[in-house]
Amino acid sequence: MADRNRRMVLAERPTGMVDASTVRMEETDLPQPGEGEALARVRYISIDPTIRTWMDDAPGYLPPIAIDELIRSGGIAEIVQSNSEDYKPGELVFGFTGWQDYVIASQASGYQALPEGVPPTLALSLFGITGMTAYFGLLDVGRVQEGDVVVVSGAAGATGSTVGQLAKIKDAGKVIGIAGGPEKCKHLVDDLGFDEAIDYKNENVSARLREAAPEGIDLYFDNVGGEILDACLAQLALRGRIVLCGAIASYNDRGGAKGIANTSNLIVKRARMEGFLILDYFDRLPAAREEMAVWLGEGKIKSSEHIVEGLEHAPDALNLLFTGGNTGKVIVQV
Ligand code: NAP
Repeated sequence: MADRNRRMVLAERPTGMVDASTVRMEETDLPQPGEGEALARVRYISIDPTIRTWMDDAPGYLPPIAIDELIRSGGIAEIVQSNSEDYKPGELVFGFTGWQDYVIASQASGYQALPEGVPPTLALSLFGITGMTAYFGLLDVGRVQEGDVVVVSGAAGATGSTVGQLAKIKDAGKVIGIAGGPEKCKHLVDDLGFDEAIDYKNENVSARLREAAPEGIDLYFDNVGGEILDACLAQLALRGRIVLCGAIASYNDRGGAKGIANTSNLIVKRARMEGFLILDYFDRLPAAREEMAVWLGEGKIKSSEHIVEGLEHAPDALNLLFTGGNTGKVIVQV
């Protein structure tokens, strides 16, 4: 065991992408576990677009990360020394580890054992926040129905790839993914079973939506916001539903986001548009994970993970989400 803890703190608020001046690596003594606590070595860090939003000094569902504060993130850590009956050395736990080597785990800080039998990277992808967001967003908020024409953006990413596959499991009539580049589009159709894919970087999204969904979109799962949301609004079917999950197109560009022009179509089509946060579904995660495990076991759903090695590369890993350099869930292996 090392005797020092490396931790990355917010040095400066970014104005666009995270760069070398945004974060600073520091070293401190190892934290010492008190009574009822355990020392844990961080093994895997979940890289999520929301980390970028926490770097802004703007109101959100959690407070912004303060200057000089540890970068906040979920992660998986291995217990190395324990003063608690709840944690045994060698056990893996999930919690808000942040970007660092060691954490103090306790019940008060919410560290929980991984779901039984689930390997750590799957615990962060299909069984983690992104997989569960896809599950509740599509099933609960979107109320997907058999025969629905479903469109999902960010479709080759962690959340979007799960949404598309779940829609197929739920017998959607047609599943259309929107992603950047021909390779990702081919992956959606050939590997993940999407019916069609639209390459928003090289194709006219509005025109392609009219072709692919001539009777309209019953359910649009929005991961990106902006122009793609507007194009989907314009192509909604009667009683269509839009699930607002994320708006990644604007996370690096606070204040610069363009207005949405087609909301009046919600009236014409008697449609519903609703945002949600996975935080509100935490008490239902165990049941959702059980169902996900069945589909995984039956080969009906696949998970892809994009692993980046080394704590020091966490900022580059975060940027992958915005350049589209990832396919599937981005995870830093510490
Ligand atoms: P991800 O989809 O694995 O990665 C982000 C993807 O977004 C990139 O791969 C990129 O793919 C695409 N993208 C980036 N900039 C874009 C732009 N300007 N226009 C269109 N696409 C763009 O990330 P994730 O963790 O699964 O998150 C997906 C979304 O879900 C995010 O908006 C996130 O904030 C949201 N989310 C919400 C909740 C909730 O509780 N509501 C929970 C988790 C995640 P391309 O190569 O296709 O551009």
